[in-house]
Amino acid sequence: VKKIAIIGAGASGLISAIVASKDKQNQIDIYEKNSSIGKKIQASGNGRCNITNQNISNNDFFSEKPSFINYLLSEFDFNKCQTFFENLGLLLEVKNDGKVYPLSMESKSVLIILSNHIKQRNINLFLETQIKDIKKSKNSFVLELDNNKLEYDKVVIATGSNSYKNLGGTDFGLSISKKLGHDIVPFYPSLVQLILKGDIYKLANGVRKKSLVKLLVDGKAKDEIYDDILFTKYGISGLAILDLSQKVSIALKYKKDIQIALNLLPQYDFQKLSNLITKLCDLNSDFTILDTLCGLLNSKLVLAILKDLNIDKNLISKNLNFKQIKSIANNILNFKFTVLDTKGFDYAEVSGGGVSTNNINNKTYESKIIKNLFFCGEVIDIVGRRGGYNLHFAWGSGYLVGKNL
Ligand SMILES: Cc1cc2nc3c(=O)[nH]c(=O)nc-3n(C[C@H](O)[C@H](O)[C@H](O)COP(=O)(O)OP(=O)(O)OC[C@H]3O[C@@H](n4cnc5c(N)ncnc54)[C@H](O)[C@@H]3O)c2cc1C
Repeated sequence: VKKIAIIGAGASGLISAIVASKDKQNQIDIYEKNSSIGKKIQASGNGRCNITNQNISNNDFFSEKPSFINYLLSEFDFNKCQTFFENLGLLLEVKNDGKVYPLSMESKSVLIILSNHIKQRNINLFLETQIKDIKKSKNSFVLELDNNKLEYDKVVIATGSNSYKNLGGTDFGLSISKKLGHDIVPFYPSLVQLILKGDIYKLANGVRKKSLVKLLVDGKAKDEIYDDILFTKYGISGLAILDLSQKVSIALKYKKDIQIALNLLPQYDFQKLSNLITKLCDLNSDFTILDTLCGLLNSKLVLAILKDLNIDKNLISKNLNFKQIKSIANNILNFKFTVLDTKGFDYAEVSGGGVSTNNINNKTYESKIIKNLFFCGEVIDIVGRRGGYNLHFAWGSGYLVGKNL
């Protein structure tokens, strides 16, 4: 009998247990500090669980060593993932954009299926049980609980990242791995909202708009995404912003100058938009400029744009000069904000960074430093884009660990 401890009953830990249970020699104990399993699975995809993605490649992941994931993607691609869940009795549905959800469209069904397989396979699950420390003795590991010490042959660190503390986020996995001699890449928040400088954005609080969003780092364009933005009290959110936040976090780490440039009406070029604004000002020549531009954009956005340009919102449209019209057109197509920070770990869907992939075997996910110690999921220095990629990595790494336990 091999005694195995899995620390963390999240996506990766649960799959590693289910796969490892096929070997009847394995006696498996899972430890979970929360009162229920898979809290992040439950919350995922707004309660619908974006479980994986049909289109998946190593370009969908970030790490200090992105090639680390290649083996996982060859062994556990989308089809393998779909078959794996079908064999557990969970059917999946692929949406037009490639995102994949349970056919039930309920994250709860993922938890019910996983939980029943854990029970059925005689895996021991200890809820509300926090592992405080792991010590390596000669041929085994000693796990320290509140009032107990337990010995195991093999240990899996599946403790996730420190994002969303209220769902169990912790940096235990990182600190314990460091203590056990591993290199770490400090966690950084990803898929997270951004805090902006100044207060112009506050005038547009609550406005959502599909825009072409450019990320500028030290003045150079680094990425561009066409999707929703949402102005908030602290700065900016929305899908385009979450997607850009990975690169923002890295740039912040290196103390770069970061700007977001919004093109609010990408269907117009500068000339066409200037002509259009001139036409609108002629048409409604006795309206205030605020009222005139309301035919073009949300009035809160117009307010923010005028304030940014120091143009009085009550200026009568016929009194606007050509320079002012050009500057309004320019601001609509290139409305720039300086990014001060992200909203931080408590709001970040995932954390980048983690245990260095240099210390992990990319086929077995066993530590290269300590034999019989394994890692899976977000605790590893791999983070995915939005769209099911982070759960895919959790399932895939759990699967490889389970096979090698
Ligand atoms: C709000 C939200 C929505 C998301 N939506 C999606 C989505 O739709 N699609 C997608 O792909 N990804 C999504 N993600 C990301 C995804 O949920 C995670 O990447 C994934 O759950 C990571 O799996 P994991 O097993 O590594 O860690 P987790 O699922 O976080 O599990 C780790 C577990 O370990 C436990 N633990 C930690 N330390 C200890 C300890 N010392 N002792 C005992 N237990 C411990 C924790 O309580 C936790 O339950 C979302 C995340 C959040 C927060």
